[in-house]
Amino acid sequence: MRMKINRISVWQLDLPLHKPYWLSGGRLKFEQLDSTILRIDTDEGVSGWGEGCPWGVTYLPAFGKGIRAGIDEIAALLIGKDPRQLDAINRIMDLALPGHPYVKSAIDMACWDIAAKSANLPLCELLGAREPAPVPIASSVSTGSPQEMLDEVQRFRDQGYRVHSCKVGADVTMDIERINLLAANERAGEIMFYDANRAWLPREAITVLNSIAGVSSWFEQPCETLDEIAQVRRQTSCPIGVDEGLHTMEDLIRIQRDGIAELVNIKINRVGGLTRARRMRDFCLATGITMLIMDTGGTVLADTAVAHFAQTIPAPSCPGVWSCQDMVSVDPAPGQGARNVDGCFSAPDLAGLGVEPELTLLGEPVAIYTMESA
Ligand code: MG
Repeated sequence: MRMKINRISVWQLDLPLHKPYWLSGGRLKFEQLDSTILRIDTDEGVSGWGEGCPWGVTYLPAFGKGIRAGIDEIAALLIGKDPRQLDAINRIMDLALPGHPYVKSAIDMACWDIAAKSANLPLCELLGAREPAPVPIASSVSTGSPQEMLDEVQRFRDQGYRVHSCKVGADVTMDIERINLLAANERAGEIMFYDANRAWLPREAITVLNSIAGVSSWFEQPCETLDEIAQVRRQTSCPIGVDEGLHTMEDLIRIQRDGIAELVNIKINRVGGLTRARRMRDFCLATGITMLIMDTGGTVLADTAVAHFAQTIPAPSCPGVWSCQDMVSVDPAPGQGARNVDGCFSAPDLAGLGVEPELTLLGEPVAIYTMESA
């Protein structure tokens, strides 16, 4: 029997960060995120939740107001459609609004929530598997002096974290100092990511990577473009990850075909939702590419989708996820969803995503789309 979408409600939430956050060697500063949360209702009474939250407006070609403007273009076309037909839903969205993947992610997430609730399965199980181990959460260590960054890593260690993402990408001399101090203090069993967030020129990245002797750590998004990272790849031997350079399946195919990186960061919002992320996951598993799974930002809703998706991937292929919820001061679903336990996430054992935001914490919707608007 066909199920039909009969209402899409959209909320906007400001998410102030607990403290300002610096990326890319201090080029980019963030103090508040703009999140869009939506609920899709159906004629069978099953509802699903989604969230789309870019990391500010300067990090990626994506912004909060753009998500809501994009949803306004698409939403009426989805009324009456079966939310469980995820490929069909995505084709409708792509036809109505080519590109703009970050607009579509929250809708896609809510449809997956409905599909999993309809199947009476936790989302990870509908997505293909529930791997036994909880998923390690990577810390996120803001750019600072070498000692400040080491102190921050230590604070995360004390909370149980074993995977650390240290933000570098300032001047080359200082970056080498930062990385050498952090690497010298690495503990057995830890995984270190040195994430430049696109900041280095190829010659700078080559200098830094070739200065770090005997370290098995990862270097993430050293330069702006895939061409530049390919150049760094040819002249260094450290493992490299691509984060901001992965948007489409074409990007991923190129990364694999040209041997540009051994790891990619699949950020669900950036790639356009779980449907596209799942295709990328399968390509990575088929070609031996390691994955970090995360979203671009958000509350426990986005984090819980990350936890479900990451828990479908065997641990050797997914060393970690990132959690945004602990960095923001707003929680629309207290006590629910994936929560940080000793630096790890586990996907909830409830049907669907397993998160139902409290309406009183969301306030009034900023838009509602129904049969009348279709
Ligand atoms: Mg990164």
